[in-house]
Amino acid sequence: MKPGVYSTKYRIDCYHCRADADQMIKVVPQQAQVICSNCGATRIFIPKMAEISKKGDYTPISCYDVWRLEPVAGCRNCGVEGVHDLYVGCNHFTSRCRNCGYTNFYKFNLQYIDKCSIEEDFCDPVVR
Ligand SMILES: [Zn+2]
Ligand SMILES: [Zn+2]
Repeated sequence: MKPGVYSTKYRIDCYHCRADADQMIKVVPQQAQVICSNCGATRIFIPKMAEISKKGDYTPISCYDVWRLEPVAGCRNCGVEGVHDLYVGCNHFTSRCRNCGYTNFYKFNLQYIDKCSIEEDFCDPVVR
């Protein structure tokens, strides 16, 4: 696993197609994506900042219940592969290394309603 790169999933009613479906979560240092496995609705988050933070320093405020996940990932700061605290809201996306506290903050950028690969650098955006 490359440091700062991981994927996980969260099963919940999709905000777009309303189906109870796995929401695929992919993280790379330059971007984070949440993709509905049923309809392909994709939300893109871009990095805002990264710093060492104490747990709870940043209380997410969101328009729906924040997803809390605990994926295992390689930390770009301390290099340890371990549990990260992942918070996904509608406007923000936060990933924090539990070992050293290194936290990446992403903010919502745009949304696609189509299948779109994180490996491709161009997709047709759909205005919300
Ligand atoms: Zn969906
Ligand atoms: Zn770390």
